[in-house]
Amino acid sequence: MAPSWFYALPVASLAEYVDQERVVELTRSLVAIDTRNPPGNEAPIEDAVRAALDRRAARWQTVEPAPGRMSLVAELEHPEGPNPDRPTLIVNGHLDVVPVNAEAWSRHPFDPQVVDGRLYGRGTADMKGGIAAAICALDVLERAGRAPACNLVFHLVADEERGGRWGTRALLDAGLIRGDACLVPEPTDLQLCVAERGLLQAWLHIAGRPGHGSRPREGVSAIEQAAQVVLALHAADFGGEDHPLLGRPTANVGTISGGTTFNVVAESCVVGVDRRVLPGATAESAQAELDERIRRAGIEGLRYRFELSTFGEASEMSPGDPWVKQVGDAVTRATGRPPEVIGMTFTTDARFVRNQAGIPTVVCGPGAIDQAHTDDEYVEVAQLVDATAAFAELFAAYG
Ligand SMILES: [Zn+2]
Repeated sequence: MAPSWFYALPVASLAEYVDQERVVELTRSLVAIDTRNPPGNEAPIEDAVRAALDRRAARWQTVEPAPGRMSLVAELEHPEGPNPDRPTLIVNGHLDVVPVNAEAWSRHPFDPQVVDGRLYGRGTADMKGGIAAAICALDVLERAGRAPACNLVFHLVADEERGGRWGTRALLDAGLIRGDACLVPEPTDLQLCVAERGLLQAWLHIAGRPGHGSRPREGVSAIEQAAQVVLALHAADFGGEDHPLLGRPTANVGTISGGTTFNVVAESCVVGVDRRVLPGATAESAQAELDERIRRAGIEGLRYRFELSTFGEASEMSPGDPWVKQVGDAVTRATGRPPEVIGMTFTTDARFVRNQAGIPTVVCGPGAIDQAHTDDEYVEVAQLVDATAAFAELFAAYG
């Protein structure tokens, strides 16, 4: 008879099959290719991405809606042959990175190095590390002699950092986002993000009436009015209930510029506003709330024009969706620590997949949220390894 502990043995963790060198090397090679956006140029990374996945890709599709703005769709070959009855899991990762303020970096942003267990470089956390972990998870399964339980499609996309128009949005418009569940390995410290606030960015063009600077009350100062608009909007409470994961909507006045010179009553002033909104808000409703707050401030003689720069709606899925549990179970198996379900105050491409394609989408990847877009961005090597193991567990179990 087998000893009693025999029955208590867990299924061998896939973590032991992770090749740390390989996931660090792949992350480094992707980070070394400069894909800053703006200006936006993902084409140079195509060869590296193809090389990493080519052995397993059954079919590649390239979408390039503008010159150099390239996204790739790789449908992977299943080791047990094609079977349309398996569910399809999409891994969506963006290839672009935000710009770099080189003087503020103490390291080379595009020559990534490991120092004290951290891999430094632009995009190590957001999100080439997550892409590398998802690719290396396939090696883990192979070494462990396991097959994915699902069909896998990788969407490696352009332009997430500037709203996704040339990337995930273009895939959506081309009808290429088809699947049963989606993983976006953006940096969440391997927590499970199921909701994101939306974003509205706009300019308010405030019109005054010029006059001689020695008689300021004979004109209408656009700067004086803008000052009142700023006080009405910045960090204002827009009311409503707290969202359990996303808190309340916000407004930040991020820029202001106006006037012509010292001795002229300012004829114009432009205020740049960034609003973060909750699920359900539209560009129109977010604008209407701004207008209403300005109206309530009762600024005498105020004339302004609203100019929309960017809008991305909020998105959410039920924290109780089985897909959330499946991703959570995979992370727990890999790390021994159950992840938390969280919301994020900013938007990712997950919103297109959740809202427009209607596919349950969990954002979960290596790297800290507060590392995204910072100087001296890094990802912990240990977390790259954990993510690789977690994604392997997920691919093996989702079926
Ligand atoms: Zn990102």
